Amino acid sequence: MAETDGVRTNITLICAPIMADTVDHMLLHMNSAKSSGADLVEIRFDSLKGFGTHEDIKTLIKSCPLPTLFTYRPKWEGGHYDGDEPSRLAAIRVAMEFGADHIDVELQAVDEFKNLTRGDKPTKCKLIVSSHNYQNTPSLEDLESLVARIQSTGADIVKIATMAVDITDVARIFQVTAHSQVPIISMAMGERGLISRLLSPKFGGYLTFATIGRGNESAPGQPTIQDLLDVFNFRQIVPDTKVFGIIGKPVGHSKSPMLYNKAFRSIGFNAVFVHLLVDNVKSFLETYSSTDYAGFTCTIPHKEAVVQFCDEVDPVAKSIGAVNCVIRRQDDGKLYGCNTDYVGAITAIEDGLRASGVQDGSNGSPLAGKLFVVIGAGGAGKAVAYGAKAKGARIVIANRTYERARELAEIIGGKALSLADLNTYNPEDGMILANTTSIGMQPNIDETPVSKEALKSYALVFDAVYTPKITRLLREAGECGALIVTGLEMFIGQAYGQYERYTGLPAPKELFREIMAKY
Ligand code: NAP
Repeated sequence: MAETDGVRTNITLICAPIMADTVDHMLLHMNSAKSSGADLVEIRFDSLKGFGTHEDIKTLIKSCPLPTLFTYRPKWEGGHYDGDEPSRLAAIRVAMEFGADHIDVELQAVDEFKNLTRGDKPTKCKLIVSSHNYQNTPSLEDLESLVARIQSTGADIVKIATMAVDITDVARIFQVTAHSQVPIISMAMGERGLISRLLSPKFGGYLTFATIGRGNESAPGQPTIQDLLDVFNFRQIVPDTKVFGIIGKPVGHSKSPMLYNKAFRSIGFNAVFVHLLVDNVKSFLETYSSTDYAGFTCTIPHKEAVVQFCDEVDPVAKSIGAVNCVIRRQDDGKLYGCNTDYVGAITAIEDGLRASGVQDGSNGSPLAGKLFVVIGAGGAGKAVAYGAKAKGARIVIANRTYERARELAEIIGGKALSLADLNTYNPEDGMILANTTSIGMQPNIDETPVSKEALKSYALVFDAVYTPKITRLLREAGECGALIVTGLEMFIGQAYGQYERYTGLPAPKELFREIMAKY
């Protein structure tokens, strides 16, 4: 088990890139990096307006409150410097002489740099030889030969940065990192490459770059130092840390990592939960197939597609046709799919009704006999419709693609509507409405699936969207006098079920509520 109290259990460093127009701003950012918890800073000298002087280099290195990495990136390698090479390499040499702890020299320039310095280098200064590919991530074979080439230059530390076109590209970065003979800094850039940065300690990376705040990135996909430390428990990640994550597209908005990582940490469970921006579920599951990848929460748009890739599916999830939780059995590596969405949503709606004085029906549920309108026919829609039907409600499905509404209504034994019909649908008062589409989700917070006028017929309105907590639909429903139930309640309910399956331990319900109360 990793330690639980924030003490570091790995050697991977956190390096804050410092980009600013002026030396004074750089110094301010260095202090922020230190107070945020960085181990070292990368002085991106090329970000200074105009060309910095050797006096500036001295000031930055001597006044820095943390160990330094000096980088003077030229335009031809993705940086900002567009002057001549001799001046640039001379500046890197000066940084070395003024006491920089690391210097970064591009693979293409390293021979020239060594000619300039005749190989002289203070022992305390480590030479990082770097290569950047902003287009893609090459094959494993090409990456291995690139690492070998960099190593053969006499680099103390190898650095390779590639672009993740697909999340499966990161697996190759992990492979070269784990097998490198020399210390290595490796990452796949972009949102699809995020796990290459978060899981760097698992594979023994020398450092990972993280910013002092959003907007301070020196390359696409860098997390903030605060996220690394507070959300992803970076200091506690070790080689045998199990990886869990949320598979979706988009997925960056998900609060699941905040919830699970805090809960894992509270009991010293050696695992990390990450965002996984997945385009193709099949290739993702095929690529990340070791038992180290122990479980996946599934969200939009993969809940239905993932069913066919599970080795076994729980009967309830099978009848819903959607899986929101995949567990990899640790004894044989097989994937087991289940659905905790419907319990989360239905319990939240039942609790809301009971709290407002609605009595349970003869089947023990306040939903018995109620007319229950579900907007959406995707994974969450099916789960909510299935759950409400099981509690004795009469079901109506309204969906953008009418055909899907009709199919679901037929299976469940209900009625289908188009989204447009919903605005004039008013067969009785006291109905229940559940939005299970992403309409109204950030950033499209002004959107709503149904007119305010039509909301007057509903006694209770539930929205599965939980970013923002109060959507336009819920705000308008409340203004019309309906009881409202937020997606956050469903989120907490479905997360209890998943946590128990992931850890084999009871979910810390109070902690979940406390964490989510912040959002
Ligand atoms: P899904 O399987 O991809 O289904 C998406 C549904 O939304 C489909 O019915 C789709 O209609 C409809 N839709 C999407 N964009 C639309 C638009 N612009 N206009 C009208 N309809 C649109 O996704 P899901 O997994 O069910 O997730 C749906 C939503 O529920 C997401 O916002 C997700 O975050 C939320 N959710 C919340 C929780 C929670 O715990 N609170 C749990 C699960 C899901 P078509 O059939 O016409 O494509």
